[in-house]
Amino acid sequence: MKKKNEITFVFDSCSENESLARTVMAAFIARMDPTLEELSDVKTAVSEAVTNAIIHGYEGGEGKITIHSQIEGNIVRIEVSDKGVGIPDIDKAMEPLYTTKPEMERSGMGFAFMEAFMDELEVISSEGEGTTVSMRKTIYSALNLS
Ligand code: ATP
Ligand code: MG
Repeated sequence: MKKKNEITFVFDSCSENESLARTVMAAFIARMDPTLEELSDVKTAVSEAVTNAIIHGYEGGEGKITIHSQIEGNIVRIEVSDKGVGIPDIDKAMEPLYTTKPEMERSGMGFAFMEAFMDELEVISSEGEGTTVSMRKTIYSALNLS
């Protein structure tokens, strides 16, 4: 039988909360018995998505970020949402090295990292309404969990 578990948490858009989000997600998936590499992949992907919401979505201003995550068997799904400015051209934004903030020394690699570290990445966004980044990853060390 597949075990399910789900959390939703909402926090203010500020850089102090990047590490909070990473830590909460690491604690949440701990029961899946991930390898250190799997754990680090998920933490990095969450960090990139949350940083994007803070820097780009809310452009350093105020706003709420929501993380909704679900574990089902050995699969973890994570959604990071903001109600910020949104992304006008998602395909372009997801190209490696594309950034709209080169002056802030952003390298344009956030989405590329999320794509590399997770099994699936989907971005839904509307200008003026916000962005939701959905990611999925299979945790292989949990394959034997019943
Ligand atoms: P890096 O992540 O390497 O520091 P970056 O954030 O610019 O640089 P990506 O994370 O790949 O690179 O994002 C690419 C672009 O997509 C950003 O420059 C920004 O224009 C847009 N973007 C990403 N996330 C959001 C978001 N939540 N809201 C609005 N725009 C976003
Ligand atoms: Mg980024």
